[in-house]
Amino acid sequence: MHLIDMHCDTAGKILESKNGEGLYENSFDIDIKGMKQAGTMAQFFACFVYMERFQGEDRFEKAFSYAKQMAGKMREEVQKNSRDIAFAVNADDILRNQENGKISAILTVEEGGILNGDMGKLEELYKEGIRLITLMWNFENCMGFPNSKDAGIMTKGLKSFGFETVERMNELGMIVDVSHMSDGGFWDVVSHSKAPVVASHSSSRSLCNHPRNMTDEMLKALAEKGGVAAVNFYPAFVRENERAMREDLAAHIQHIVNVAGMDAVAIGTDFDGFTGGSLEIDKVEKMPILYQELQRAGFTEGQIEKIWYRNAMRVIKDVMR
Ligand SMILES: [Zn+2]
Repeated sequence: MHLIDMHCDTAGKILESKNGEGLYENSFDIDIKGMKQAGTMAQFFACFVYMERFQGEDRFEKAFSYAKQMAGKMREEVQKNSRDIAFAVNADDILRNQENGKISAILTVEEGGILNGDMGKLEELYKEGIRLITLMWNFENCMGFPNSKDAGIMTKGLKSFGFETVERMNELGMIVDVSHMSDGGFWDVVSHSKAPVVASHSSSRSLCNHPRNMTDEMLKALAEKGGVAAVNFYPAFVRENERAMREDLAAHIQHIVNVAGMDAVAIGTDFDGFTGGSLEIDKVEKMPILYQELQRAGFTEGQIEKIWYRNAMRVIKDVMR
């Protein structure tokens, strides 16, 4: 079974590792050994920047270099493991890597704020091989506003630089990711983007009422746009205050299918991106448990293939250049 996971934070774990843990085998949620067991076809690796960590006048410069440093670390790791993994910047790369028996690594940036309103920096990220940007994290930035329980913030839309970024990403062939964004920003992105849009790691708000999740209307809009919502495994977004089990993840997938159709759902585990909560499927090598649960729930093999990788692959093919 092939798998495409649209979001993880393993790159940050590796960069910050005190004892030099790498990509082949580590104590984190994702490593090459585990991805081989899971049948991973492509893994999106986020270069996430926590803005508060940088202070002072040059904080944006520091934050941008930090993202580049993380991408550089991933290049080192992929190079070291070139027998098993290679980068991909488009669908053809993924297919070629697959023919060569290699997993594909796709680099992303999580926190568009590192651009600090400078479009030249977006071009630089493109040249670095970044092919998806999660425009927001949980802070206001140069593009817009984050998801929030405060309706005043949640209804705020994109800023002008946010609109410009969506346009330029469409032109360059980068995927625009609306996870973490305010609902107002979401609607602006969806109405403005000429290309399919994704929520790389968000689940269903009807099933778990968290502002990081997507409402049914948002799921439908993603589908109409040709995009996907990739289900996040973070227990707080899956089943509040309870252990998130295989059937809970299957329920989110089923709900997205019911509301938005069979072509609108994908996987975006968020592995290595959260602590706390209790999760049954907490490492990539456990993904077959969810696969079996989907079979048990009555999904056909063809449907599970869409969930597992075909829908994500379609978006990659439509957008990434
Ligand atoms: Zn995130």
